Parts: sequence; C-alpha cells; structure tokens
Amino acid sequence: MPPRDRFPEAPSMSSYRNNDLDPWWMPFTDNRKFKAAPRMLVAAKDMHYTAADGYLVLDATAGLWCVNAGHARARIAQAVGEQALTLDFAPSFQFGHPLGFTLASRLTTLLPGDLNRIFFANSGSEAVDSALKIALAYHRVTGNAARTRLIGRERGYHGVGFGGISVGGIPGNRKLYGTMLGGVDHLPHTHDPSRAFTRGQPTTGMHLADALEGLVALHDASTIAAVIVEPLAGSTGVLPPPVGYLQRLREICTRHGILLIFDEVITGFGRLGTAFAAERFGVLPDMVAMAKGLTNGVIPMGAVAVRQGLYDRFLEASADGIELPHGYTYSGHPVAAAAALATLDIYREEALFERADAISPAFEQAVHGLRDARHVIDIRNLGLVAGIELAPGTKPGARGMTVLQHCFEAGLLVRVTGDTIALSPPLIIEESQIDQIVQTLRDVLAMVD
Ligand code: PLP
Repeated sequence: MPPRDRFPEAPSMSSYRNNDLDPWWMPFTDNRKFKAAPRMLVAAKDMHYTAADGYLVLDATAGLWCVNAGHARARIAQAVGEQALTLDFAPSFQFGHPLGFTLASRLTTLLPGDLNRIFFANSGSEAVDSALKIALAYHRVTGNAARTRLIGRERGYHGVGFGGISVGGIPGNRKLYGTMLGGVDHLPHTHDPSRAFTRGQPTTGMHLADALEGLVALHDASTIAAVIVEPLAGSTGVLPPPVGYLQRLREICTRHGILLIFDEVITGFGRLGTAFAAERFGVLPDMVAMAKGLTNGVIPMGAVAVRQGLYDRFLEASADGIELPHGYTYSGHPVAAAAALATLDIYREEALFERADAISPAFEQAVHGLRDARHVIDIRNLGLVAGIELAPGTKPGARGMTVLQHCFEAGLLVRVTGDTIALSPPLIIEESQIDQIVQTLRDVLAMVD
C-alpha cells in the first residue's frame, strides 16, 4: 500500500461541498441528513454569515446565542493574535498570568452583590459542572456533608456534561445516557399554554416556585445542596420567568440554607438588556454560570462567579493545601482572556447592553406581529430573545426543521428547538434587520406545510 498523505492540503472554499463530510461526527445534528444536503457557512461579518454558495445570511441567533457584539470584530481578533504571540499558554495550576486576574476583576464589576470570585472553565457545560461541584464541596467543607441533592427544573438546559444533563430537564438529551447523577430532583417547568402570546414576563405562575417547598418537605432541607435554574429558559424554547418567580425561589433557598445557582450562559452579557439577568430581576444568586457572550464566541471560555462568602469558607476550612481540587488545563486561558477583555471593551464602549434594552420594545412589537402567521400557536419574548412556537406537523420537530431549512435558503439563520423558532440576534441589530427577520419568517411560514 502506498503511504497515505497524512497532512493533505486544506480544500479551497469552493470545494467544501465536494469534500468528504463523513469524518466529522457533528454535534446535535442529524448527520445523515446534513451530509446529504449540507448547510455550509464560510465567512461572517457583523450581522451576517456568508453561505458556501456566496449569499448573505442574516444571523438571527448570534451564532448559537453567543456572538452578542456581531461577527468578526477586529478588536477581538487583534487581541487574540497579539496574545497568542505574547503568551500563548500559561498553566493556571499554581501559576498565574496577568490577564486572568484582570478579566476576573472586570467580571466582578459587571456582577451584582458580592459575586466577586471567578472560577474559569471553557464552556457553559463546564461552568455548570464546576458550579455544581462547588456547591457540593461547599456544604462538605462547612460540615453539612449530607447536603448532596441537586435540584434542577423540567425543560431546563444546562449543557451536556453528566452534571448538566442530570439537573437538566430535556428528555431527549438524557435518555441515552443511563442513570446520571443520583439524588437529583426537578422543579416543574413554568410554561403555561393558556397564557399564549404573553408579552414579556407572564404575570401568573409565581406559585410554581413553591414546588421547591414540596421538594424540601419530601427530601428534607438537610439533604439538599443547591437549586439550579436558567433565569429565562432558552434552549427549551424560550420561557421567560413568571413575575416574582425567581424572587420566590431565592426566598425559599435562603430559608432552607440551599444554594441558588443561576445558569446565565444565555442570559449573561446583555441578552436581557442588563449585564446579567440577576441584575434585571433584582435577585442575587449564590453562583452564576456564564460562557458564550463572554468572548463573543470567538474563543471558548466559561466561568462561574461565586459569592465571596462561599470562597471564604473554603479558605477557612483548609489550613493549607489546595482548597478546591478542580480545574481545567485551559482554565483562564490567556488567549481566551484576551478575547474576553476585548469583548467587554466593546460591550462598554458601544453600550450594547443598553442598546439591547432600548431596541427590545421594537423587537417585541415586531415578533408579536407574527401572531396571525400560519402555524403559530404562541410567541414568547423578553429582552432580545423570542420564541415562536408552531403547531407540530406530522412528527414533533419536523415542521421546525423545515422552517429552518427554508429560512436558510431565504438568507436567514434561525435556531429551532422542537417546533419553536428561537430568535436571539446580536445586540447590534438594526430595526430594519428585525423587520427582515419577521418578513422572512412570515413568507416561509406561509409556504411550509
Ligand atoms: N447552559 C445554558 C443555559 C445553555 O444555554 C448552554 C448552551 O446553550 C449551556 C449551558 C452549555 O454551554 P456549552 O454548549 O458552551 O457547553
């Protein structure tokens, strides 16, 4: 056999379509269908992708809820390039580098209250798993070793680690993976179809938080470590929290010594018009998991913000030695930190969180204009997020995928979960582009069965 070329030339852009697509086992993708008819993206700038065929695609989902400042921002690219040439990698186990500390400090100024200790990870899933581990370890080091239960919520999405899928509540993401973590329970979700077409937060449903009292009665508070929720459930199809719901969860957690974790992987960095949802709702959780918008999606990075009191208890409990045996090779990676700092500079200088807040009434008005569009059974929104739920077609999710495909062909990138179209555009979106999103959706919905 002739030796095979182990480092073949990269294909030119135009030949991507003819490439062998088999080796990449793509995530959360119907690989058979995708490879038969690939949707290929080859470039991006500001609000648009360029598809392989050369046409522009308006990005109505900020990539995957992450490109909040728009695509290919020169300032971030420069920061990444310069950092890679200055300090490409530095271990963060027992060594440090200045950018990691600078970034941690900068994040604390964006976070409410005393959420001022930052643990770095590389993704939302890792941030969630880190937060769950910190919660368990916190109770252990403070003499409450029986507090090992974790409470999530039905329909919750917390990434794909074993911790995240255990507390998560999306059945399809769990069913192939065995028994997961033990001792996990779930709150009911907050979706109420009788409140269809509610604008912003539903005014009823706060009482759903009281289910936590039921779980406390069932398991006893002394066995419960933490509750984790997304302040606005995103991936399940956009469920804004009922008015007062998060406040009620906070009260119950405080009363019973249970830690409250907000998974702000989607809601962080301006999506709801404030730096974090915790600020928008005026609720101080004990930990915040973040990722995505932290680096504008340019370099993977996640983080957990921890209230100072928790961190202090760890230090008090360990006279010397490593107080938290946890971390990743790439925790606080210098190039990711450089990307994050440049991203935060853009958010501040262009006042993008305020911009998201200012444009969200126009966004709400426009998306609710689809109320009479074909197949639409509900529209939910808050900040710069909207979910447009369609009546299921022949099979759950099939109509959603057809809409996604037609939108792509019509120059619009949307995300679908099941039969709900999720919109979460970059925060730099213009009103004319909002109109384009809505008009394209209206046309596509009129066309699909
Ligand atoms: N948590 C939430 C709320 C998310 O929406 C996501 C991703 O969409 C994650 C966690 C997981 O993040 P990642 O895909 O970066 O692991």
